[in-house]
Amino acid sequence: MTQKLFYEDPYMRSFSAHVIRCDPAADESGRWEIVLDRTAFYPEGGGQPGDTGVLGNTRVLDTQESGDEVVHICSAPLEAGQKTAGEIDWNRRFDFMQQHSGEHILSGLAHRHYGYENVGFHMGAQTVTVDLSGVLSWEQLQELEQEINEIVWQDVPILEQYPSSEELSRIDFRSKKELSGWVRLIDIPGADLCACCGMHVARTGAIGLVQILSVQRFHEGVRIEMLSGKRAYDYARMNAAQNRSVSGLLSAQLHETASHVQRILEEKAALEYDLTGLRMEWLGMQAASVRGQNPALLFVPGLNPDGVRMLCTKMMAETEGVCGAFSQSPGKGWLYAVARLEPEKVRAMNAALSGRGGGKPGFAQGSLQAEEREIRSWFTANSILPPENEAL
Ligand SMILES: [Zn+2]
Repeated sequence: MTQKLFYEDPYMRSFSAHVIRCDPAADESGRWEIVLDRTAFYPEGGGQPGDTGVLGNTRVLDTQESGDEVVHICSAPLEAGQKTAGEIDWNRRFDFMQQHSGEHILSGLAHRHYGYENVGFHMGAQTVTVDLSGVLSWEQLQELEQEINEIVWQDVPILEQYPSSEELSRIDFRSKKELSGWVRLIDIPGADLCACCGMHVARTGAIGLVQILSVQRFHEGVRIEMLSGKRAYDYARMNAAQNRSVSGLLSAQLHETASHVQRILEEKAALEYDLTGLRMEWLGMQAASVRGQNPALLFVPGLNPDGVRMLCTKMMAETEGVCGAFSQSPGKGWLYAVARLEPEKVRAMNAALSGRGGGKPGFAQGSLQAEEREIRSWFTANSILPPENEAL
């Protein structure tokens, strides 16, 4: 049975111990499983990842619990019986302690105020998620966040209790499962009382800051994304930097960026509305410039396939013969829309002018890889005669 130094002092970063055994990992990963007589490395459990760090001259890549033993997953072996020095990656561990302690306050208050249970907890490298058994709105979570931070600022101690099973039956505490035997209760006065085997900071002040990032419906309840400690601070800094950039770009006060963006979006919508009207008017004027021609051909810049189609439609209203609207597209040659050209002639056009495309009889869309001059001469040679000349 490994002596668990992390329970005697959660702030212990380095320690010395004897190697009890060292075996190659069963998964043939080339790693080694090292068991010591005592350790400050916390093994994965209760939603908290296992510690990493250094043991003698080997890296501890992960720490797991196996029965009464703590198993250090290491990059190299150590000799059984030897004395070794361990040092855990403290910044990583302390971050987990901050995240975990912040989560206790949130889950405890959600339980006190709403009767919800914590039904899932994940501490990832970036995000921390808490799943609650009931639904909370963003506004309710904003209130909760305020109250959590007040507990943080009150700097109350985070206490451990080891009640007997007889005492335990009289205590109302949060727990995910029925517990018996050795039970460790984490008591945050005013916020939470919960059975937990994880690592926590000594007082709530060390959590520093708690921020709730998002909430979404999840099963019967919600999944909350939250950050505590340095992660919350880094997140606040990132947001502040973003807002400062936006404020600089808009020449707006920091607290007025959203209303400025709102105004710009409204102006943009109004401009788009005007632009659509002007574009239709301009297309109409272009179409009018080929009134009565056959073939009627227009080569204009900057139209997308929709614009080319609209121009050709407007040209049909001004003419009775073949219409062709073309717009040069970077790397794609000429976009086209042609009207009143028989399907076999569209195929012939595509073949002659390295084109592709088609459509319904009398109206086709596609693209051509050819010079304007080549397109014009093909149409001059291949357009059907206007109706008044048919009799000739
Ligand atoms: Zn805990």
